[in-house]
Amino acid sequence: MSDKFQNTGLSYFQHTLADSFTCVGRGLHSGLKVVMTVMPAEAETGYLFVRRDVHGSKNEIPARWYMVTDTHLSTTISNSMGVRVSTIEHLLAALHSCGVDNALIVLDAPEVPIMDGSSKPFVDIIKRLGTVQQKAERRAVLIRQTVSVSESNRSASLEPSPVPWIDMEIDFDSEIIGRQKLSLPLTQGIFDKEIANARTFGFEEQVETLKELGFAQGSSLCNAILISDSKIVNMEGLRHRDEFVRHKFLDAVGDLALAGGYIIGQFSGRCSGHHLNNLLLRELMTNEQSRMYMTLRQAEAFWKARLVHAVNS
Ligand SMILES: [Zn+2]
Repeated sequence: MSDKFQNTGLSYFQHTLADSFTCVGRGLHSGLKVVMTVMPAEAETGYLFVRRDVHGSKNEIPARWYMVTDTHLSTTISNSMGVRVSTIEHLLAALHSCGVDNALIVLDAPEVPIMDGSSKPFVDIIKRLGTVQQKAERRAVLIRQTVSVSESNRSASLEPSPVPWIDMEIDFDSEIIGRQKLSLPLTQGIFDKEIANARTFGFEEQVETLKELGFAQGSSLCNAILISDSKIVNMEGLRHRDEFVRHKFLDAVGDLALAGGYIIGQFSGRCSGHHLNNLLLRELMTNEQSRMYMTLRQAEAFWKARLVHAVNS
């Protein structure tokens, strides 16, 4: 009998990293230099950030949807003492899509290093190190009823689906970006091949204002796509023709990794970003009819029974 969730190839069991890795870089918004070590962690730990530059017992911040305190330009989590970590989404997207359920992330600054602006540097190193299976079964959050949130022309929803799926659409008033759509199942292979290397982006005319406000202090052409009027400033151009929607897809994977298990359902985002992604998780978690916590194995059995029933009726 298979011990894998057939629709994604994911094992029924939790995994952690086979070994630790360290990244040195700067935070995109703070501009601060940061040394970050990602280490194996025990089953049921989830993703746990530890600020080693903060002394005392309150330097731990679990990466969960209810710890999110700021979603302006990136996702920030904070604990009850106000100790925070920002721009966690690209690292979490990499860990989650590589099948790492449990990791201890120790850093000496309040922001994850931006690396090249995508998840690829993290994915490459995780794949090289490998993962190890743990005894506990993998957790799933099964979507039973559609939940949605919206604000002006932006919306995000989660609806029942046996296959984890992301459907993203963006519409920017920019000749370079315009309207872009991407709809793909969320498997490790697809994330690696289609999504992981899509970089974050910004507009040249906004950079000065952002910097004056204390954001984008660490941004450069090495870690973001810069758009000026109708052209890309980066010499190397784009990695994909529609790299922008791919990056929004990546952000959604990272933001949804705060659910505390694999979401078995379809996410649809229309111009959604960190704010709506987190609002959607809050709506999902407070609306008990809309979801069920179970193991991945139980989620598979749930959908098998439902599909057989649909065929027979
Ligand atoms: Zn991003």
